[in-house]
Amino acid sequence: MEQEQSEVTTTRKVTLKALPIGEAISVGVLADKLQVDPVQVIKQLMRAGIFASMNQAVDFETASVVARAFGFAARKIEGASGQGLTGVAEDSSSKSLEVRPAVVTILGHVDHGKTTLLDAIRSTNVVDREAGGITQHIGAYQVTHNDSPITFIDTPGHEAFTAMRARGAQVTDIAVLVIAADDGVMPQTSEAINHIKAAEVPIIVAINKMDSLEADPEKIRRQLAEHDLLVEKWGGDVIDAEVSAKTGEGLSVLLENIELVAEMAELKADPARAGVGVVVEAELDRSRGVACTVLVQTGTLRVGDFIVVGSVRGRVKALVSDKGQRIESAGPSMPVEVLGLNDLPIAGDRLVVVQDEKTARMVVEERLKNDGANRVNRATLEDVGSLISQGQAKELSLILKTDVQGSVDAVRQSLEQLGSDDALVRIVHSGTGAITETDVLLAVASEAIIIGFNVKPDQGAQRLADHDKVQIRQYDIIYRLTEDIEKALKGLLEPEVQDFVEGTAEVRAIFALGRTRKSAGCYITDGKFTRGDKARVIRGGQEIFDGAISGLKRFKDDVREVLSGYECGLSLDGFNDFFEGDIIEAHRERVV
Ligand code: GDP
Repeated sequence: MEQEQSEVTTTRKVTLKALPIGEAISVGVLADKLQVDPVQVIKQLMRAGIFASMNQAVDFETASVVARAFGFAARKIEGASGQGLTGVAEDSSSKSLEVRPAVVTILGHVDHGKTTLLDAIRSTNVVDREAGGITQHIGAYQVTHNDSPITFIDTPGHEAFTAMRARGAQVTDIAVLVIAADDGVMPQTSEAINHIKAAEVPIIVAINKMDSLEADPEKIRRQLAEHDLLVEKWGGDVIDAEVSAKTGEGLSVLLENIELVAEMAELKADPARAGVGVVVEAELDRSRGVACTVLVQTGTLRVGDFIVVGSVRGRVKALVSDKGQRIESAGPSMPVEVLGLNDLPIAGDRLVVVQDEKTARMVVEERLKNDGANRVNRATLEDVGSLISQGQAKELSLILKTDVQGSVDAVRQSLEQLGSDDALVRIVHSGTGAITETDVLLAVASEAIIIGFNVKPDQGAQRLADHDKVQIRQYDIIYRLTEDIEKALKGLLEPEVQDFVEGTAEVRAIFALGRTRKSAGCYITDGKFTRGDKARVIRGGQEIFDGAISGLKRFKDDVREVLSGYECGLSLDGFNDFFEGDIIEAHRERVV
């Protein structure tokens, strides 16, 4: 093995290409950057005794050993982590990099004209209508303005925008914030501003409904300034455009501004490499099977390519453009409908082109095997605190929800004051009302912790937070909150543990296990039972025993867990006195 490696390095010594990477990188992204199949990277890692899957991250040192074997010299980018794990970074030294169109998402308050604006922009693309194509709604579309194409994501709003980011897919290059000139900055406008800022995406403000008699664009600019967005006219750097989605007034100025911002961002991609993209939308079509819209991020996707999308695979049978035309290939920033997958992927899933069917199969198997085991542990107040105190993190990101506006500002201020240069308290988003699913998604996307002050998560939000392991902490007394944050920043906060019921079962039969020991034949009515959890026996509403689950069987086999709707044989450590009709509750202590 050693010989093989050294051979590779010597023969390629002269041609080693620089590869900038951060502290850590996922196997999939590393493979992208090295322009090889992920499987080859996985194999290379195996040779070094490391068993990692596509989605797992390896550290810089490990990545640089692998990179060398493929002719690259890794160079460390200081301070880069998080996003680099899933982003589609390009090697800036590559010669085949070409300018790519910007991908734009439209955000803003309900009824401010997002959909109308998207439709108006789409219909400016007269050339394509002349070509006879019927515009199709495939989740994204491209228009050409002054000969340069711009891609628009057809699902407006920050929910979709952040949901994609939470899945690790940052597709938007520029955010257009729509504000109705006859209305002004509304709650969802502020929310959108925070979501855009958290994503660190350039922002252009479209002041819409300028045809309305009540239009007051200066008021909008004033309100924007209160949100730290100072427009150019007032000496700031935020570009704004007065438009009317209804009459079409100002649209070309808006498109020009988009081009300008895109130019400044120097968006580039390498059309010569194998296609990499993100799923924007997916649906099961009766006649065509799985149809999913993919935004190609880099490389070129071609008919006939073997692809893996999330944990779904297939071969590209056909590519359909947003104009409804069959095409042979799609390059960077192009939205395209892909036919030929064997199952439905999820929006935000990554598409990669692989060498052949066997590789596709392997990658999918690997992903399915690791699904769940791979789930990242998200930030907790305790962990971030101790990282800060060890100098390994510099800021604590929080999302703050309170009951009334007055308390948002008060709580926000007292939290921000607790930070110092070494340990910054960053409020990614604050607002009033219950903690929502969108807050949880933003927390995932920004590695933030959610603080509820006098408010609770709504049901969906709690479920999503449990699933994605996002920490939600609730307070009703301000000094308790500030005390916890203060302790956290010093790395002194002890994890708080709470007991959670994981599953409920009914005893339906009793079996003897040897002479004295008994096991209960149970039917699980809710949740799940897992070996290692504790269980309490409840009879007539009274708890009569609490102890460890010592055995869990499905038929004759020992199993690790049994889910709701199934029967199982259960034995408890130190308890044999089961009765039919007893209720058993599996429970476990978890850090909250
Ligand atoms: P969305 O909820 O942000 O997608 O908003 P819509 O695009 O559905 O627009 C909401 C309402 O505002 C609709 O009745 C539109 O016709 C209207 N609207 C949108 N843009 C304009 C505009 O520029 N001027 C006027 N007067 N009305 C508009």
